[in-house]
Amino acid sequence: MIKEIQLRVSLVEESKQQNTLLWKSAKLLDIPKEKITGIKVLRKSIDARKPAIVFNYKVAVYINEPLPESSSYTFKYKDVSKAKPIHIIGFGPAGMYAALRCIELGFKPIVLERGKNVQDRRRDLKAINQDHHVNEDSNYCFGEGGAGTYSDGKLYTRSLKRGDVRRIFENLVYHGATDQILVDAHPHIGTNKLPKVVQNIRETILKYGGEVHFETRVTNFTITNNKIKAIQLINGEELAVERVILATGHSARDIFYLLDKKKVAIEAKSFAMGVRVEHPQHIIDSIQYHCSGERSELLPAAAYSLVQQVNGRGVYSFCMCPGGFIVPAATANGEVVVNGMSPSKRNNEFANSGIVVEINADKDLYKYEQFGALKALEYQKDLEKLAFTSGGRSQVAPAQRLTDFVEGRLSSDLNPTSYQPGIKSVPLHSLLPKLIGKSLRKGFESFGQKMKGYYTEEANIIGVESRTSSPVSIPRTEKLEHPQIEGLYPCGEGGGYAGGIISAAMDGERCAEAAVIGL
Ligand code: FAD
Repeated sequence: MIKEIQLRVSLVEESKQQNTLLWKSAKLLDIPKEKITGIKVLRKSIDARKPAIVFNYKVAVYINEPLPESSSYTFKYKDVSKAKPIHIIGFGPAGMYAALRCIELGFKPIVLERGKNVQDRRRDLKAINQDHHVNEDSNYCFGEGGAGTYSDGKLYTRSLKRGDVRRIFENLVYHGATDQILVDAHPHIGTNKLPKVVQNIRETILKYGGEVHFETRVTNFTITNNKIKAIQLINGEELAVERVILATGHSARDIFYLLDKKKVAIEAKSFAMGVRVEHPQHIIDSIQYHCSGERSELLPAAAYSLVQQVNGRGVYSFCMCPGGFIVPAATANGEVVVNGMSPSKRNNEFANSGIVVEINADKDLYKYEQFGALKALEYQKDLEKLAFTSGGRSQVAPAQRLTDFVEGRLSSDLNPTSYQPGIKSVPLHSLLPKLIGKSLRKGFESFGQKMKGYYTEEANIIGVESRTSSPVSIPRTEKLEHPQIEGLYPCGEGGGYAGGIISAAMDGERCAEAAVIGL
């Protein structure tokens, strides 16, 4: 017999986890311990709302029945080397999962990716951090695995209805991610583990007859009689195509410009921008875990999630990275963009998070109306240029102590930071557009009241956090096809259909399912 039960385990009990789960299960089910043949953890979360921290477990208790071998997931991939092709532009989570799904469905994915493979990409990341040089095809957003590779690898998604989240998690485990992600309430892979998972996905695609071409930027489309007929590549080659999944992400500005120029309908999209705030991790731990010294080693680096309405506008934390690093996420020279990532152990001494302000594309961007569907993109670009010039025309990012920003004075010095290219003291309070600066200041004040100790001079804010989602959306019909262009399937975050690794992966699967119909 198998019984599913919930258990609450204290911090002291957690240190003897297996034993604790055993005796607690026996007690709750009112059976002798000896009858329990095994316990499988189904879900684990931490309840730190009160000083007495509790671990919540959902477990399956096996009674007089053997515990099955740890499950190994299988996906039914077929040899598609001679099958009909589907062209996929972009090899981020959306493109990768579109390709895998094509193989399951018996079609041959041909992936075209502007960036390099994960290994070679590392050198370009080093160049951004050390030489302040941005390779415009290979950086923190572009390259194998997309923006998801050198990321935090947080796998939460709010889009539970948009597809089978569990299927994606199982597939990540199949490709080498820890099976802990199937259990944790806030699953996380970590930037040190993601490249291997991404590489394994590529190897599966190749093994079953798909193709993945790196350093192959798509530069143009041929559209005849409202049908996509060919795509042009950076090397001058032209490929005849029938079905194209466009999964180029939120930073592929050249694709947005191209679509606009070709009068393919795109729309300005509301999005959010702001700064990244960085605290010493121990401050966040002491607030969240109610402790004065170091946190217990049984507890992970603490995270937070904050939101506040300021004059009817949302100000909220975004992509919070406990024990992480702030990284330079620009995709072109002449701009500064920050984002966050963390290793699997989340053991760096800093906690960072985007704190961003909602920008309404219809109401807030009247000065940019001339840019039509590209108005939010141009606004985003201007802010990134401002960060570049005020930081000193390199990848050095403009920064200010949190308290100085809110109180409106230049910081005489800054706190240590994890941001490798370096930071420079700048009066962000007066430099940021009023819409963003004022809302952030009010937002930070309220966050300081919600989390005592959060509003501290030991924190820096670093600018700018501008790539939270796409500033453009690409419309599609119920069949997931562009309404004007037969055979073109806008997909993932760049189309406005995802916000994060998991939702992008799920959208990739859905687009593959749509693109193969009738082929
Ligand atoms: P992308 O991942 O952006 O992939 C698009 C791909 O298309 C890129 O590889 C790009 O090189 C390629 N491409 C673009 N233009 C062309 C072209 N013309 N020709 C050929 N190829 C092209 N999300 C989370 O859920 N959790 C996190 O912890 C997290 N942390 C992040 C940390 C950082 C530093 C960054 C930058 C992002 C993070 N994100 C995180 C966001 C997440 O990575 C994205 O939501 C996700 O990758 C979007 O997937 P996508 O496939 O739609 O697009």
